[in-house]
Amino acid sequence: MQCLKCGYVRKSEDIAPEWQCPACQVVYAKASQNVVEPQMIQTSASFGASKQSNGTQFSLKIIFATLVGCGLYFGYSYFSGNTSAGSASIISSVGASLRSEKDNQELITNKKAELKTYEDALQQAEADIAKMKAEVGTCPITGQPNQFTLKDDPRPGLHGKIEKLKAEIRQLEKKP
Ligand SMILES: [Zn+2]
Repeated sequence: MQCLKCGYVRKSEDIAPEWQCPACQVVYAKASQNVVEPQMIQTSASFGASKQSNGTQFSLKIIFATLVGCGLYFGYSYFSGNTSAGSASIISSVGASLRSEKDNQELITNKKAELKTYEDALQQAEADIAKMKAEVGTCPITGQPNQFTLKDDPRPGLHGKIEKLKAEIRQLEKKP
């Protein structure tokens, strides 16, 4: 162990604690911090002006990229739903009692097709989310898993639509 402050190389017979320099009593960890900081300031000050410190600039970029990487944010906007189709099905189900048997069957078929679309979308969303969670990785600095933030989770909305459609289909199928 060599002291970063005074350059003294520690000998096995030195009695000072392992974390302290026997010559100048500096705490090694503290000395290394003091050495690193001025370098960082110097590097950022000469950023762009000097071509000589490319190595240091490169490592700074890596640190920056890694820190950004740890705060990964996953935007996920999937099936926002078709509002006009939604209100259309409300209107058609209100008018269902006035319809003929044939129209009623058509309506059921349409609703079942719509239900299938939502169920497929939900399945796809589940698969996509699972895949994103699996690929999220860990932060190389903290060793903790990267944070997985889901924006606009489509699943509750899809569940709601599916339940509503199932109820509507049950209602329609009850009619003679
Ligand atoms: Zn020292």
